[in-house]
Amino acid sequence: MHSQTAPNPIETVKDEIRDQRRHLSRGRTILSENRTDNHLIGKFQAVAGATVETDLNIVFSRRWKKVGLTERENTVKFAATVRCTGHGCADPVHEVPATGEFLLDGDADETAPAAQPVIDAARKWAQQHAETCRALPYSRY
Ligand SMILES: [Zn+2]
Repeated sequence: MHSQTAPNPIETVKDEIRDQRRHLSRGRTILSENRTDNHLIGKFQAVAGATVETDLNIVFSRRWKKVGLTERENTVKFAATVRCTGHGCADPVHEVPATGEFLLDGDADETAPAAQPVIDAARKWAQQHAETCRALPYSRY
């Protein structure tokens, strides 16, 4: 089985958190407060040739602060999606549930590693799927 994985997605997560923070702190922002940033973190080739892709979803959002409900705060959480592109695949999409929300203003070095269990779960599912999925790649049709 052939597989490719990004070298260090946690570093990418740190960069994305800092990037989002930088944009929002400017007031007039290009990036939305509510957006999901998807990063390819793994690509596996299934036994019959279909491609299984794993995406880390970095979910930025904005919520009311719990105390007082007069101010809002920006948050980030992590989820992952596995997609099998095989023709006739019985189980083409798998979602790894999101982590809890972290404050965007928190230390990115401490927040980013929270994405690791999600990444591991997604890659594990993708790898197991790739080992068992007999779906054919679309290009053969
Ligand atoms: Zn499949």
